[in-house]
Amino acid sequence: METMFWDKRNETMGRPALEALQLKRLQSTVRRLARRVPFYQEKFAERGLKPADIRTLADAQKLPFTTNADLRASYPKGLVAVGPESLARLHTSSGTTGKPKALFFSRRDVGNAADLMARCLTMTGVTRQDVLQNMMTYGLFTGALVMHYGAEKVGCLVIPAGPGNSEKQLLLMQDFRSTVLHITPSYALYFAGFLESKGIDPRRDLALRKAFVGAEPYTEETRRKIERTLGVEVYNSYGLSEMSGPGVAFECAQKRGMHLWEDNYLLEIVDPKSGQPLPDGQRGELVLTTLCREAMPILRYRTRDITAVIARPCACGRTHRRIDRITGRSDDMLIVRGVNIYPQQIEQVLMAIPEVGRNYVIQLEGLDEMTVRVELAEGGFDGQVSRLARLREEIGARLRAEILTKPKVELAPPGSLPVSEGKAKRVIDTRKL
Ligand code: AMP
Ligand code: ZN
Repeated sequence: METMFWDKRNETMGRPALEALQLKRLQSTVRRLARRVPFYQEKFAERGLKPADIRTLADAQKLPFTTNADLRASYPKGLVAVGPESLARLHTSSGTTGKPKALFFSRRDVGNAADLMARCLTMTGVTRQDVLQNMMTYGLFTGALVMHYGAEKVGCLVIPAGPGNSEKQLLLMQDFRSTVLHITPSYALYFAGFLESKGIDPRRDLALRKAFVGAEPYTEETRRKIERTLGVEVYNSYGLSEMSGPGVAFECAQKRGMHLWEDNYLLEIVDPKSGQPLPDGQRGELVLTTLCREAMPILRYRTRDITAVIARPCACGRTHRRIDRITGRSDDMLIVRGVNIYPQQIEQVLMAIPEVGRNYVIQLEGLDEMTVRVELAEGGFDGQVSRLARLREEIGARLRAEILTKPKVELAPPGSLPVSEGKAKRVIDTRKL
């Protein structure tokens, strides 16, 4: 497939020019922060750091990290670098605990985020002919709005459906012939089950071609399952509110890692414990610095997302490096009976078993008891109880091989486990340890 570009000059810029641009933008960001933002002024003073000390991109390592806790502590004012007259939009990100984070955009920031999103969409072959059904949550969450603005910029017909209400989603898809979905992996799996229960074959009855799937971690197995059951090509979409939401990194038609727009973000991978930089190819925590943000620039944000840089050139011709699928967050590792487990390991095992359906929950309770509750696939139960017992055994054994501890496995009827409208809650931990 011939690749299309939204902004060919910037997307294919040679590495030396791209890095020179990054340095120029980094220096100007640091200068502005040193003039305007007390939080960074203090951090620079602690280190005896002056903007003039940033002479090369490697000097970025002299800059302080910004953490989730720093952003929470700055709520509700945010780490704003412009006057109130320049603020155009507020988003907040709540995460799971405590105070939210306030994230401000200027008019230029809003336009810029839409522009990066437009690059992403065009990169996958979306054009103004497409009808994009946006099934992410609208509101304070960045996910839906940034995609919405980007898709409008490309010239798509955008349907601001929001998540949930599958009956209505289906009607919209049928009546307006939606070709592209923007959706979380958990809702995509759920929705595929809904279509099946309605006797709808998406390849025969709908016009869907692509789905942009993100906002939560998911595995290759889940991607394949969504592709198979919704009859679409799935493109991985990565972003976070702190970095203006979706459109930070996105898969091209090669679908081998996500191009991260390096003219807008400085990309580092660090050891999550020591904070020391790791070489390309090694997995670690993604750290991002905004290079173009006006209202609220952020230096070296500790995303807590675990990934690796793919530095080899991509066949699509883009020079911006790719990041690998996010395999989890540095803070979502579970420790069960002394064993380190990432929820993604469990998902990978479950989604590769054909009899397993679309939803699962990991429950931790009591004194370190782990139960994995799994929905059966539609039509996966033929009434034979012995089949169920065998399946439970098999799931238990496969999980044990992957996570080195054998959880209790419970099978549940299709569609019976709770689905959330926003991000899925896969882990329920009520342990008293
Ligand atoms: P939010 O700030 O609410 O938009 O959440 C951002 C977080 O969602 C990221 O830091 C990731 O942990 C997660 N996330 C977003 N997109 C993806 C993706 N494609 N794969 C894995 N995790 C993702
Ligand atoms: Zn590419």
